[in-house]
Amino acid sequence: MSDCLFCKIIAGEIPSNKAYEDGQCLAFYDIDPQAPTHLLVIPKEHIPSCGVVTPENSAVVAHIFEVISRLTAQLGISQFRVVSNCGEAAGQSVPHLHFHVLAGRDMTWPPG
Ligand code: AMP
Repeated sequence: MSDCLFCKIIAGEIPSNKAYEDGQCLAFYDIDPQAPTHLLVIPKEHIPSCGVVTPENSAVVAHIFEVISRLTAQLGISQFRVVSNCGEAAGQSVPHLHFHVLAGRDMTWPPG
């Protein structure tokens, strides 16, 4: 999508600090980290949020979780939180499906 920030990052029009990339997804470091390690993992296909995952586009979600598993292991991270905000009231500010991977500090529950 031409006016989507994360689509522009995928296209290389906006720089990012990449941690991993393949044909289906991209992982990069969040510009405003909320933990010592804060990665975002996004599908290359524009899916607006986890509220519109369907049988037709859900395979990339499974793939992303495989990538998160592998990437965290490579980074030596064994304890982490995965978050996907859906909708403004839930904290979503970028309308392109993304999974936050947060690690390196104790997490509280429930999240704010
Ligand atoms: P959310 O608020 O759940 O939609 O998450 C969007 C995330 O994208 C936030 O944590 C932002 O800090 C992050 N973000 C926004 N712009 C950039 C950027 N150019 N590079 C990396 N992360 C970004």
